[in-house]
Amino acid sequence: MNVLVANLGSTSFKYRLYAIDGAEARLLARGGFERVTDHGAVIDQAMNELAAAGHKTIDAVGFKTVLGGDITGCLLADEKVEQALLATADLAPAHNPPYAAGIRTFRERLPAVPRVALFETAFYQWVPPSAHRYAVPEEWYQAGIRRYGFHGASHKFVAERGAELLGRDDIAQKVRDLYIAGPQSSGTLASGLLASGLRVISCHLGGSSSVTGIRDGVAIGTSMGLSPQSGLPQNNRVGDLDSGAIPCAMRRLKLSLENVEKQLTKESGLLGISGVSNDVRDIKAAADKGDARAQLALDVFIHSIRHWVGAFWLEMGGCDALVFTAGIGENNSWLRAAVCENLAGLGLVLDPAKNAANATEQNLAAADSRTQVLVIPANEELVVARETARLLQAKAGRVNGEG
Ligand code: ADP
Repeated sequence: MNVLVANLGSTSFKYRLYAIDGAEARLLARGGFERVTDHGAVIDQAMNELAAAGHKTIDAVGFKTVLGGDITGCLLADEKVEQALLATADLAPAHNPPYAAGIRTFRERLPAVPRVALFETAFYQWVPPSAHRYAVPEEWYQAGIRRYGFHGASHKFVAERGAELLGRDDIAQKVRDLYIAGPQSSGTLASGLLASGLRVISCHLGGSSSVTGIRDGVAIGTSMGLSPQSGLPQNNRVGDLDSGAIPCAMRRLKLSLENVEKQLTKESGLLGISGVSNDVRDIKAAADKGDARAQLALDVFIHSIRHWVGAFWLEMGGCDALVFTAGIGENNSWLRAAVCENLAGLGLVLDPAKNAANATEQNLAAADSRTQVLVIPANEELVVARETARLLQAKAGRVNGEG
């Protein structure tokens, strides 16, 4: 099955075409356009490019949609999905409107090709209310103000690949089936701890970052909340903040709400603390030269990662594998060492020689470490392509009476 993964920004369109055959995935082509004003025109152009390169068959289009409120999961991207994206655009203004428009454009341009939305919130569908409810009045909750979670594609991939690397093919298979069959398909899933349980803490550390606790392949909680503005300090977004800070800043600094929102999304996070950059490479270089604000930004980031790792470690009664993924997690051994510091008492010991290597899939734990420490490179487009193919194949199987 040839799956086109469409990555849509407000002024950009990037695509990758994969051939998915069971567990095998091959990248056939990729391309993209910047400074886009007419998404319909560039989609036509992309189709022409693909046809000229001999890729005439597109069996499905997959979209990594961010937030749709109550609408979540991996599902056909129909008009209800388009409406849900627009209805929650206030919480994901950079992503939801272009995805709604992109899905509509593909529907108009390629009506016979099925479209699939993989929501970033999908992996958190089964997080219990105790971990997703804020202590707000009931009316706020009814209005959709709750923790949703993001980076679901990446954390689900960690759940699947992590289980494979740890020799738990039973759990890897359950993760593969998760969006089709739901968690109840699992024979070993339970809310309590099982001897056979697999407890993974996944750290997606990149342009934006989150930590997720995963028990037996299913997320039990995440650092991300109502919007991608929450949890760990992000590159230029604030992360968790006391709700009292907003009215306080408005009064003391005489800021409008609009200005507060802008500063918290564009001028905060690692950039706001360091004053140097939103890129960890630049911040680390400045810190190494003695820049105190740059060092503080790194210290706050590492403190926040450890805070969330500790929360899930306790919640799950232990951790079989701590996983690092995405640009920062895959490429910065000094950061992994800092996150893992002084955890020997909990059974985690890093092997410094193994940790020195970057950017490859590997286990960094020392031989006597009870907790494994994995690097799993992220490839979110591939995840979208695979989940799209899984959904459509499951639907075809059901129609043909196989499932
Ligand atoms: P995005 O979230 O935008 O997809 P990434 O996952 O690539 O981005 O994460 C970007 C972050 O990863 C930046 O802070 C950058 O410093 C860091 N990063 C990416 N590649 C490297 C590298 N080779 N070495 C060190 N840090 C890197």
